[in-house]
Amino acid sequence: MSTRAFTSSRAAAVDASGIRKVFDLAAKLKDPINLSIGLPDFDVPDAAKEAAIEAIRRGENRYTQTQGIAPLRERLRTDLSAEFGRDVGEVLITSGVSGGLFLAMLACIDPGDEVIFLDPYFVMYKHLLTLTGGVAKTVDSYPTFGFPADRVAAAVTHKTKMLILNSPANPTGAVLTEADIRAAVEIAQKHNLLILSDEIYEPFLYNRGTGFQPVMKGAEHSVTEVSPRSDGRQHGLEARATTKPMYSPAEIYENSLVLRGFSKSHAMTGWRLGYATGPAEVIAQMTKLQQYTYVCAPSVFQHAAVTAIDISMTDAVASYERKRDIAYDILSKSFDVNKPGGAFYIFPKAPSNTTATDFCARAIEKNVLVIPGNVFSNQDTHLRISYATTDEKLARGCEILCSLT
Ligand code: PMP
Repeated sequence: MSTRAFTSSRAAAVDASGIRKVFDLAAKLKDPINLSIGLPDFDVPDAAKEAAIEAIRRGENRYTQTQGIAPLRERLRTDLSAEFGRDVGEVLITSGVSGGLFLAMLACIDPGDEVIFLDPYFVMYKHLLTLTGGVAKTVDSYPTFGFPADRVAAAVTHKTKMLILNSPANPTGAVLTEADIRAAVEIAQKHNLLILSDEIYEPFLYNRGTGFQPVMKGAEHSVTEVSPRSDGRQHGLEARATTKPMYSPAEIYENSLVLRGFSKSHAMTGWRLGYATGPAEVIAQMTKLQQYTYVCAPSVFQHAAVTAIDISMTDAVASYERKRDIAYDILSKSFDVNKPGGAFYIFPKAPSNTTATDFCARAIEKNVLVIPGNVFSNQDTHLRISYATTDEKLARGCEILCSLT
């Protein structure tokens, strides 16, 4: 028998052992307090479910256009154009933000191209660069998880092509301030970099309007159609006439590729629905590559998303803000921890006499599941806690973690 390896060196180069170890441990626990999961604990809103069922019955079961169905693309183009203050052009519907990330890397990264992102980071960035031959240049953002502009600027070389921003961030819950975003854009402009802005947690922004330098946006833009946002947040002309803080680099930098999606905002992680907007040539290449990979995002759920976009998720977001406060109030008694401004993660520092991995192992012995920071970082000092669970389990889990310090 031949011992030929049928798998590629490319696949072998991706090391997913960190997160797998946690999942293996989780599988052994009976009814753990699971603070490790990166998805909402509420279900898809009923109206969206009904819209999906109705779409199946109506026969929307075939391929769609590669770029996605027109009503969804047009609606998103209108919303995003109003929000960013200019016509954003074509919107590509992707198979989740993950699909958008993969296509973005395939479309933009040549072997040897350097990509800068902050450490801690969402793990997929690193692995997608391994797959595409790109070089990950991580920049330490401890202990505040803000944007260390000097360090980022120092990491730029003639090979740097892309700067990834992720705000609100996984795993820290940190939100970039307007000053951070302006500093990132300045670096990108100076070195002609594409900013890939992963905004999947954009609906989960707390303390809206505080902690930011407000900007007065001119009313000179000619976007006329403004639809109300499903999350109740102001945007578009309405917002620009007032003092809306800036959340996306796309508002001031056209070479921003923005990826957003419905997975987290509407608890549709299994529906695989995201979207991308950015420079026309990047969107065009991503669309071409989608044709030969994902083909299209799931048809039924694209149709359901046209309904989902108008479902208010403000109650869900408010409940996450409350959970953020519960977690922070308990953990800050025993841990060195920043109060996160968004997403549904909090990232406290493990006691300094232990590694995060060892601390998590001790937590697991107490039936509490959290993820060690080294899964998302070059250092093993912090814990990622997801507060997407019931208030009761969250409080109990956090108290147990405090008892281990
Ligand atoms: N970006 C970040 C920062 C994430 O946390 C996730 C999901 N965990 C994704 C992208 C991918 O999300 P999706 O389910 O839309 O593929």
